[in-house]
Formats: sequence, structure tokens, C-alpha cells
Amino acid sequence: MAQVFVGLGSNLSNPVKQINRALASLERLTDTSVKSCSKLYGSAPQGPQNQPDFVNAICLLETLLSPMELLSALQGIEQTQGRVKKRHWGERLIDLDILLFDNLTLSTPELTIPHSEVSNRDFVLIPLFEIAPDLILPNQGSLRDLIDQLETTYLYPLSLSTDLT
Ligand code: AMP
Repeated sequence: MAQVFVGLGSNLSNPVKQINRALASLERLTDTSVKSCSKLYGSAPQGPQNQPDFVNAICLLETLLSPMELLSALQGIEQTQGRVKKRHWGERLIDLDILLFDNLTLSTPELTIPHSEVSNRDFVLIPLFEIAPDLILPNQGSLRDLIDQLETTYLYPLSLSTDLT
């Protein structure tokens, strides 16, 4: 089984509900189980500021799917949920990213692993730290060091947790 960290983000149409709905879909994926999940965090949008804050979470999956099979499955969940992409760095109903896939490094037109935004995004690193504090990222060193290098953090924990039932 591969251990895979998946990032979830939403800032439209009740983001907490969108994240929990995506989590429920992840739990139904074939040959895959959701092992743990971070709390929900609010984060300021990275791109255009005239959009709602994001809700983010990270979960750890174990899967027998290949990276490409998992990417297709995540895109299927996004489509089913009704992914809306209005502009670059813009609003998202649901965004699912493969952040890390075991210790794999991969760079193809469809898939970059580790995800290109892993090492410098507070909304990735801090929830990741919550569920895997001792993580070492391929070619990028320890998660602790990456967090120490974060300049500013715009992240705030939400009092709600994910609905991992
Ligand atoms: P985005 O709009 O940020 O969700 O990007 C979607 C595109 O990113 C898709 O067409 C994917 O093929 C590509 N992509 C590259 N690497 C990854 C990854 N690690 N996880 C998810 N999507 C990825």
C-alpha cells in the first residue's frame, strides 16, 4: 500500500460541507482507505483577494492505486461535486491535490509529485505537521525545517473538525 497525502480546499458553497463531501468520496474509492485527517483550517486566498477565504485540510490515504489512477479518481470526485474554476488562483468548489505519494518524485505533464506548492504553502505544511510531524519530504528535507522557513502564516484553525466517521 502506498501512503499518500491529499490536500483538500474549497471556498465556495459551504466549504466545510464540500470538504466533508469530498472526504466521504475518498473513503469510497476502490482499494483505498483514509487513515487520518487534519483539522479544518481557514486560509486567506493566495491570488485575487476579492474572494472568500479557503477552508483547507489534509488527509492521509493508503492506496493500491497508481499515481495516475489516483489523479483520475480525484478529478472524478471534483467533477461529480461540480468543480468551478473561474480564474487562475480563483474560487474553487473543491480542489483535490496529490501532495506526496510515498517517497516518489515524478514530473510529467499531468502530474508533479511532490506537488509543486507543497514546500511553501502554510495551508499545506501546517495541517501536514498536525498528522505527520516527523515527515521528511523527498529532496526537500524535514517538514519541521520547511515550517521554520515559512515567512508569514495566514492560517487559522477552525473550531470544526473533519467528519471522518
Ligand atoms: P489545479 O487547477 O491547481 O487543480 O490543477 C489541475 C491540474 O494540475 C490537473 O490538470 C493536473 O493534471 C495537474 N497536476 C499536476 N500535479 C498534480 C498533483 N500532484 N495533484 C493534482 N493535480 C496535479
